[in-house]
Amino acid sequence: MRILFVEDEKKISTLVRRQLREEGFAVELVESGEDGVSKATLEPYDAIILDIMLPGVDGLSVLRAVRERGIKTPVLLLSARGDVSERIEGLNLGADDYLPKPFAMDELIARLRALLRRSSGEQLSFYKVGDLALNLLSREVWRGKRKVELTKREFGLLEFLMRSAGQVLTRTQIQQHVWDYQFDPRTNLVDVYIQRLRRKVDEGAGDRVIHTVRGVGYCVESEG
Ligand code: CA
Repeated sequence: MRILFVEDEKKISTLVRRQLREEGFAVELVESGEDGVSKATLEPYDAIILDIMLPGVDGLSVLRAVRERGIKTPVLLLSARGDVSERIEGLNLGADDYLPKPFAMDELIARLRALLRRSSGEQLSFYKVGDLALNLLSREVWRGKRKVELTKREFGLLEFLMRSAGQVLTRTQIQQHVWDYQFDPRTNLVDVYIQRLRRKVDEGAGDRVIHTVRGVGYCVESEG
């Protein structure tokens, strides 16, 4: 899942970004409200973590501008502890959740995951394609009765594919949502990861769920 993080405090942003990446999120960091608005407007994100205290355009103004432009990306606001009026204003402006500073990383990650689950529209805690099941709460993947052990990045990739089951996803779409680094367009990282997933998910199973769409990308779909 691809996250936009708007925060000017380097100590916090560095720590949060590293932690989120370790959890398998793709994170893009910007340090000003202006950059936050333009990024949120121009690029696809699955969620935005937005600090209220920013120099120049503050977080609440960013939120207002983003919602006025019709962008519905879920927003988690970060704010100083105890500032109730700020919190209410944020929620009225269309924030989806709120976390006071200082916060525990575990809580930030849990809230972010809850936000992403809610925004998938179906209150889903798991995805299922054929006999392949991915549980967002326990972070487990099962192929029939066999448990599939995945790294966090592999889990993130499979989650993105299963969330869009039945749709063909291009390599660029997959890169954007699952990795945050700028890629050399000739890189085959997506293909390498798909091969790994296939070995773990499809090998030995009756039918395949991860399909290559020649010249376009990949699609997760049950053959049955
Ligand atoms: Ca700040």
